Amino acid sequence: MPFRLPASRINWTNSAFLIGTFLVTCTAVPLYLWNYGVNWFQLALFLFFFIGTGLSITLGYHRLFSHVAFQARWPVRLVTLIFGAAAFENSAMHWVSDHRRHHKHVDHEDDPYDISQGFWYAHMGWILFKLDAEPPLDNVQDLRKDSLVVWQDRFYVLIAVGFGLLLPAVLGYLYSGWLGALGGFLLAGVARVTAVQHMTFFINSLCHTIGRQPYSDRCSARDSWIMAIFTFGEGYHNYHHEFQHDYRNGVKWWQWDPTKWTIWTLEKLHLVEGLRRVPEEKVLLSQLADTRRRLNERLECKQTVINERMRELLKTSDAKLHQLGERWAVLKAQYAEKAGALKHEYTERAVAQYEEAKAALAEIRREVQQALRLLELAPAAV
Ligand SMILES: [Zn+2]
Ligand SMILES: [Zn+2]
Repeated sequence: MPFRLPASRINWTNSAFLIGTFLVTCTAVPLYLWNYGVNWFQLALFLFFFIGTGLSITLGYHRLFSHVAFQARWPVRLVTLIFGAAAFENSAMHWVSDHRRHHKHVDHEDDPYDISQGFWYAHMGWILFKLDAEPPLDNVQDLRKDSLVVWQDRFYVLIAVGFGLLLPAVLGYLYSGWLGALGGFLLAGVARVTAVQHMTFFINSLCHTIGRQPYSDRCSARDSWIMAIFTFGEGYHNYHHEFQHDYRNGVKWWQWDPTKWTIWTLEKLHLVEGLRRVPEEKVLLSQLADTRRRLNERLECKQTVINERMRELLKTSDAKLHQLGERWAVLKAQYAEKAGALKHEYTERAVAQYEEAKAALAEIRREVQQALRLLELAPAAV
């Protein structure tokens, strides 16, 4: 049967914009660079708009407005709304609504960028086509009370064109006349829009395809440090789907997450507050549960050729992790009970229990790491 494009379902505005900006980036931009080269001003302008709009999506649209991972004062909300619009990814109200449905129905039909419908569908196919019935904006009641978000939703196109395309052109003009204006429009405008858009799209496509799942295999989301480099830290997507309200996506201190560092810095400047963090032991316990699951998978797989010594090691490791998990649960319950009710009379005891819990936590951390190393040594399951 010949392939027929479902013309009635094509979203012409989105398709024309996405394909148009991509084509200009692949043709007019290299032509401009070939003919006129690039000066430090154009480069700085590109970087300023790239980082400004990219961070407004990850820090503003995503972690602040979608997940309320912290509270922000109006200057932060205003700037991220203006530069978020300049990324041409729809108004915050619509973006957040889609994203909250993504988390709620991940990998299923109601997920707007459902990866089970294919890589390209999750990447950008979902934007090029219209849905049969547009889902209602019934999951953003909190944002309807934010007058800045409502304002941005109303004037989205104007703000996007004004700050995303015209402003770079005007700044280029001020620096070096009409040729500078063209350069600003093409580089910090069009090419930058294309770069930021695909960076965001990769979170929906590649971050649900490549990488590891250290916290859970409940959904397709994956952790990848390579993706984190390209996405201002959003590449730790397995962690993010497991703990979506945490302001960090790269939860370990050494993980590349410029969005988390910016939020932390804004807190020191008293521009944001109430940063939400998942307690360390909760993160470790989830890592522990996932390591045990993988250990058992490896042991149960009949096709895996594991020598007896390795089998014994894996088994012992699993038993140890199980034991530690249980011990930790008991200690934590005891600690919470005593520390809460008998705070004053049993301070010493509470402190002792706290120390014991802390030691167990350190032991869990060590054992999880050891088990992970063992897993790497054991031959992979076929
Ligand atoms: Zn996702
Ligand atoms: Zn999210």
